[in-house]
Amino acid sequence: MITRSPANVQTGSLLSPREEPLAILPTTPRGGWQAQLASALRDPRELCRRLALDPAWLPGAERGHALFEVRVPEAYLARIRRGDPRDPLLRQVLPLTAEGDAVEGFVQDPLAETGHTPRRGLIHKYRGRVLLIASPTCAINCRYCFRRHFPYHENAPSRVQWDDTLDYIRGDDSITEVILSGGDPLAASDRQLGWLLDRLEAIDHLVRLRIHTRLPVVIPDRIDDALLAWLSATRLQKVVVLHINHANEIDDAVVAACRRLQGIGVTLLNQSVLLRGINDSVAALHALSERLFAAGILPYYLHVLDPVNGAAHFDVPDHEARTLVEELRQRLPGFLMPRLVREVPGEASKTPL
Ligand SMILES: *Cc1c(COP(=O)(O)O)cnc(C)c1O
Ligand code: SF4
Repeated sequence: MITRSPANVQTGSLLSPREEPLAILPTTPRGGWQAQLASALRDPRELCRRLALDPAWLPGAERGHALFEVRVPEAYLARIRRGDPRDPLLRQVLPLTAEGDAVEGFVQDPLAETGHTPRRGLIHKYRGRVLLIASPTCAINCRYCFRRHFPYHENAPSRVQWDDTLDYIRGDDSITEVILSGGDPLAASDRQLGWLLDRLEAIDHLVRLRIHTRLPVVIPDRIDDALLAWLSATRLQKVVVLHINHANEIDDAVVAACRRLQGIGVTLLNQSVLLRGINDSVAALHALSERLFAAGILPYYLHVLDPVNGAAHFDVPDHEARTLVEELRQRLPGFLMPRLVREVPGEASKTPL
């Protein structure tokens, strides 16, 4: 589907966030999801100003922004406490000076994904399922992202190239599940996604469609009628794996978006990343699992950080991660326990810790 970046992403840079007259954070963002995507905050100075941060944070924010640009939709910004540099949502989006530090063991392509792309936009690492880069962009830029250096643009296929990518799936009947990923696949338009889904559906050996996305969390209005129309019509089993790291990310609008997805028969799962200073406590992980379930989402994976350049300050050592999860297990029913895993290049699945 990714014949091109969504038009809204390109026009986004034309809308200067500086022109917004903002002293008060809006609680209800205006416009459809594409307008909200286009007007996401992209300026580190504006981020600091809007959240009333001490100016001392600005040089680091600008340094990190030069490496991986700031991007925060208003609907997410509205959930961040003003004037609190320790806010667990702020920490996911505020660039820091430390991102420029070279740290031993932290590399550009920690998952060695660029070696598993038999076709443009397709990653085939695990048996039975392939991952498609359905959109090169995201609605939010998470500072710890393991794909912060991934060459998406080299991997965003044109429509002609999609035929070649789809041929690969057609030609291998061991593939039963397609995972739409990115970037964020739901940053693509419904027209593009509908086009792709029509072609996937025609492949008899596919039984399941999985979507890995953060968009329903950061712009809940993404789950609109147009999306529900193409997604509810498919014969494929539907799984949406959300990406939520902290209970505060789930507000009423996110819950409503989840209910709409459940209403068309989508199974909702969540993956989190264990992040220093954000969710590295039993209390935070406990609250997250409870809040997820209240929204109809089951915890799936808790990933340890992938060692990507610029994210070392988020790292939680393995022994600490294991201890946290053991304590968590004593407080939660088994079905609310995420699986603690790491991605090891060359392994045939995620690796349990
Ligand atoms: C994580 C991942 C998957 C999905 O793995 P599951 O264990 O099925 O969730 C598939 N392909 C790639 C390339 C992945 O990184
Ligand atoms: S939404 Fe996912 S892929 Fe996009 S920046 Fe965040 S972690 Fe990375």
